[in-house]
Amino acid sequence: MIIIMHDGASEKAIKDVENRLLQFGFQTHPIYGERKTVIGAIGDKRQIRMNEILLMDGVENVVPIMRPYKLASKELKQEKTAIDVGCGVTIGGDTLAVFAGPCAVESREHFLKMSRLVKASGANILRGGAFKPRTSPYAFGGLEGEGLKIMREAGDELNMPICTEVMDTRDVELVAEYADIIQIGARNMQNFKLLREVGSCKKPILLKRGLASTIEEWLMAAEYIMSEGNDDVILCERGIRTYETSTRNTFDVSAIPVTQNLTHLPIIADPSHATGNYKYVAAVARAGVAAGADGIMIEVHDCPECAASDGPQSLKPERFDELMRQLKKIANAIDKEIGLC
Ligand code: PEP
Ligand code: MN
Repeated sequence: MIIIMHDGASEKAIKDVENRLLQFGFQTHPIYGERKTVIGAIGDKRQIRMNEILLMDGVENVVPIMRPYKLASKELKQEKTAIDVGCGVTIGGDTLAVFAGPCAVESREHFLKMSRLVKASGANILRGGAFKPRTSPYAFGGLEGEGLKIMREAGDELNMPICTEVMDTRDVELVAEYADIIQIGARNMQNFKLLREVGSCKKPILLKRGLASTIEEWLMAAEYIMSEGNDDVILCERGIRTYETSTRNTFDVSAIPVTQNLTHLPIIADPSHATGNYKYVAAVARAGVAAGADGIMIEVHDCPECAASDGPQSLKPERFDELMRQLKKIANAIDKEIGLC
């Protein structure tokens, strides 16, 4: 439920309400607006004397949150969340976040080369996999710790945040040491132990939509992370499984406005994993930006045919550069910016 405080309620009144809620066994999440403060209270409603809260000093109203996800819901917080991911990059504001890089970190030399190229084209966040979820147990599984170090070196050299996936609760601490944004991949969207584990670390989390998940299940996964105290969740639409086989997955463009109607969390689009084919990546990226995504994630490789993973969907650097120019026009048309000079 949400406790709405009167305009200008005193700090003491806010603290008293929070303390009373804590005594009832609730978790509290105060949100300080320009005029009003609201307190999100998560817990068992049967344990609380509602009238007592309503009569407390400074309380204007108490309203239930109807959605099953609470902290992620727009009912709790109407204002969009903008997440500072470091190096002056914010996701969820007026500037588009552009995550780019190869699917996997393949070598130091290659990752540094790709990173410099994507930055020159206007990307503002580096992506790459050090721990790779692969369909086949015999496929390249990533450079692991070595890959994290390479990414950190590139991020430091170029002053860019780095985003990389964690697949196992046992690796969260290590990945959090290097990464600026921790990715939860589609296959792990409902790995609840992993969600709880990243929920208790201090880094922003990029939460990909599960291959066969509804928007509500996706937001419940975000709620798992937030319920552990980490509010910095960025959603990523990366296509879902449908009966269509001509693309790897089906990009759900309407998930962008639908999700924005339900949550205050930022959402980005990943046309690379959605289509699985470089020929369609630019069109779907343009659609994602036009639909209002807060950013995009694009896989880029200078030699897709020799890529260790996801070559068929990787854009060559020159195509990525061209796409960035197109996206700039679309972003400008909807009053957003993109980091191109
Ligand atoms: C990736 O980003 O490289 C990846 C494996 O993504 P997804 O979880 O969306 O398949
Ligand atoms: Mn990939």
